[in-house]
Amino acid sequence: MKVLKFGGTSVGSVENMCNVKHIINDGNKKVVVLSAMSGTTNRLVSIAQDIEAGRTNDAIDKVNVLHQNYFIVIDDLLTNTSLNSDVKNYVSRIFEGLVELTNREFTETVENIILAQGELLSTYMFTSYLKQEGIGASLLSALDFMKIDAFKEPDLPHIKRHFENVLNNAEDSEIYITQGFICLNNEGQISNLQRGGSDYTATIIGAVIKAEEVQIWTDIDGMHNNDPRYVENTSAISNLSFEEAAELAYFGAKILHPQTVTPVRKDSIPVRLKNTMKPEAHGTLISKNTSGNGIKAIAAKDNITAIKIKSARMLQAHGFLKKVFEIFETNKTSIDMITTSEVAVSLTIDDNKNLEYILAELEKIASIEVDKNQSIVCLVGHSVVNHQDTYRLFQILQDVKIRMISYGGSKNNISLLIDSKDKINTLQKLNDYLFELVTL
Ligand code: ASP
Ligand code: MG
Repeated sequence: MKVLKFGGTSVGSVENMCNVKHIINDGNKKVVVLSAMSGTTNRLVSIAQDIEAGRTNDAIDKVNVLHQNYFIVIDDLLTNTSLNSDVKNYVSRIFEGLVELTNREFTETVENIILAQGELLSTYMFTSYLKQEGIGASLLSALDFMKIDAFKEPDLPHIKRHFENVLNNAEDSEIYITQGFICLNNEGQISNLQRGGSDYTATIIGAVIKAEEVQIWTDIDGMHNNDPRYVENTSAISNLSFEEAAELAYFGAKILHPQTVTPVRKDSIPVRLKNTMKPEAHGTLISKNTSGNGIKAIAAKDNITAIKIKSARMLQAHGFLKKVFEIFETNKTSIDMITTSEVAVSLTIDDNKNLEYILAELEKIASIEVDKNQSIVCLVGHSVVNHQDTYRLFQILQDVKIRMISYGGSKNNISLLIDSKDKINTLQKLNDYLFELVTL
């Protein structure tokens, strides 16, 4: 069985839902994971923020606007009157529930309940649409099987057991539809797999059913060799290894949730990235195979904070780094990049939530310099650190101020830390020279 995940734009308009219908209606048994319609989760986040800040009326206004928008889509999508009114009833119950939540005390669980509604809406609407088109599909509730543990990691044995159970009890069908992103936590409350988490849902299901393949359908023809939002002349990469894809997803390639390949890597289940609007395009195949050496792709991750920790006594002072790491550990903040010299250690974090506490602790043992608004530019390729062209990086970037370099931490990745204001220029230069669109 295959698992196919469709992102927000794929279910964001009637035309795209029609494309999805054609893609999945091929006579083979499959699990279809859906995101919320594009824009919905962002709006739910903003509703939650209003409720948290006590702006109840703003929240209710936004709920009502969204409610009306859904009715417009439903009228476009469902011409069958009984399905149309059934879906409107379902959707109205969801939006009435959201209005009720504005009166409740705001907690993390209330926030998670709000965020979960987008996927519940899209899956219900899409299943009804298939029904209208004469295609049988069975809707499975992700909350009946998808669960994270106390460390917010997917509880795979639980998911496997419960998914099999849910599948056995479901009406036999060629198409099983379920919600991406949402899950229960270890206390049985509604939670989620973080923003963009529907990709992760798909590969988690892929892993527990040992799927033949997981397909992630988006609005772009695969993973590009540079960020197409900022750089001209990027192109889709046809093959990536799991290692390369994991590095790219982690360091900023927005197309994939950072954990996407983790569940399927062990069993070498291939992940194919495809474009709903252009199904005939090859897309990107992520598999255990490596192809070609040298730099294959460039990605950038923003909102990085660099911290330089300087201690006169670091020289030959064993245990210094341990103390530094412990401070980050007790403040539940993970470190991305790190470089050391004899007198200082520079490191980066992408989560500033506990920065204040971290700095207060660090200041007791060293002098500190902090730079915000940094970006990590990550160059990925099989064995890139051994490649003969890698030295050219320094030539290409001679005018860019590089704050840190991480080279050889993994042989597939070279990371550079730069000021975010230099990012677009740096990405374009790397693109032009490394992919030989221009020669030096
Ligand atoms: N709807 C969620 C989000 O916007 C999950 C996803 O789309 O993957 O983050
Ligand atoms: Mg996504």
